[in-house]
Amino acid sequence: MSENPYAHLPAVSRLLAHPALRDFSVVPLTEAIRSVLDRERARLSTGQSPHSEADLLDFIREQFQCQSQPGYRTVINATGIVLHTNLGRAPMAESAAQAAYRAARGYLALEIDLESGERASRQNPLRAKLCKLTGAESATAVNNCAAATILALKAVASGKDVIVSRGQLIEIGGSFRLPDIMGVSGASLREVGTTNITRIGDYEAAISPNTAALLRVHCSNYRVRGFTKSVSLEDLVALGRKHSLPVIDDVGSGAMVPMGDEPCVPESVEAGADLVLFSGDKLLGGPQAGILVGKKYWIDALERDPLMRAFRLDKMTLAALEATLELYTDRPATSVPTLAMLAMSREELRSRCESFAVRLRDIRGLKFEVIDDVSFAGGGTLPDDARPTVVIAMTLEGIGEESFAESLRTGSHSVVARIQNGRVVIDLRTVFAEHEPDLVHSIAAIASRRAGASS
Ligand SMILES: *Cc1c(COP(=O)(O)O)cnc(C)c1O
Repeated sequence: MSENPYAHLPAVSRLLAHPALRDFSVVPLTEAIRSVLDRERARLSTGQSPHSEADLLDFIREQFQCQSQPGYRTVINATGIVLHTNLGRAPMAESAAQAAYRAARGYLALEIDLESGERASRQNPLRAKLCKLTGAESATAVNNCAAATILALKAVASGKDVIVSRGQLIEIGGSFRLPDIMGVSGASLREVGTTNITRIGDYEAAISPNTAALLRVHCSNYRVRGFTKSVSLEDLVALGRKHSLPVIDDVGSGAMVPMGDEPCVPESVEAGADLVLFSGDKLLGGPQAGILVGKKYWIDALERDPLMRAFRLDKMTLAALEATLELYTDRPATSVPTLAMLAMSREELRSRCESFAVRLRDIRGLKFEVIDDVSFAGGGTLPDDARPTVVIAMTLEGIGEESFAESLRTGSHSVVARIQNGRVVIDLRTVFAEHEPDLVHSIAAIASRRAGASS
């Protein structure tokens, strides 16, 4: 008769009393011990050799730490995708994060004019900064650009028609579909042109007494190429003026400085758009928000709409947004993390990868290579801009790339990496320098667990 494979498995009570686990609180510790012992039992049942008690204690400590992490834990973004929507889009600058922190921890002048003591709009401080930065007459902000679109269409065109080109009926991930948004706002979509060709005459022919606005939507996450024609904002504005119709320009990404073929907010304002809409957490590099800048007449109309109250921003976001805008007064290319990450050159990344790779050399079973690759901005911006990058492509002996990537995600530092051609790929563009040691540690921890398992 073969020996009971679980005979040497330590008892829960013995581990609970172990001096190495003395500082951990009992209830979560018990849970961690149970789950490690369950895994060990499953392993023994397949005839694998038992882990040493020291290994088990390590696993328990790791499991304990994993369990006590919040659901919204911070992760290391090793995908190279700067505006990764699933990872929270733009990482904010230190000054913006500090502003949000101070707003969260105390009271602030949110809706008060400190000189007169009177009640004031929470939009005022933001409005002043946005006008200065974009050259617009007025400005306001809501929860996100989807909300900004609904608000603008409702306040300007509820019960009436809005003319838009068929080439711009976009869908952004997460159920933002322009026709649906239009439906919610109470405005009717009047489509003109075709997917690839829309002329100014198409807009003009569609104008009727029921038309309330002309809408241009930036095709953020795709491009129409080949035999194409679209109408410039200048021409649309001229047509709008001729018929006394406002032009709404949904630019999406919110670039304040020219970047690739993204529309630039101050240029839209300059071209005469009545309302320009964009996100706070895309190329602007701030917190999630939907910003509307443009003519005072229309901004006032939006602010009178009851939806404004439903879509309003909280104090933390307002403070962070104001601090983000402040960065644009001086060298945003280096002080806004999103812009700095996007601007990293292949040479810069190569040298970072090479020094990083040195720290991987002694990890048992790890094979890696520093290779040229491309990365994308993400967040539905700059879809054509494949940024030259340098990455580290890795394989770990005895473990497939899917499990390797999973172990990285579920390890103590929650590393999110890409999988490419059977290898796990790490792009340091989006990894903060101060997180590099944690990244090395995560890889080493998985390798040593594998080594322990196969010995
Ligand atoms: C991203 C985007 C939106 C949606 O913005 P959110 O801030 O994510 O709600 C709307 N319109 C355009 C053109 C966009 O690019």
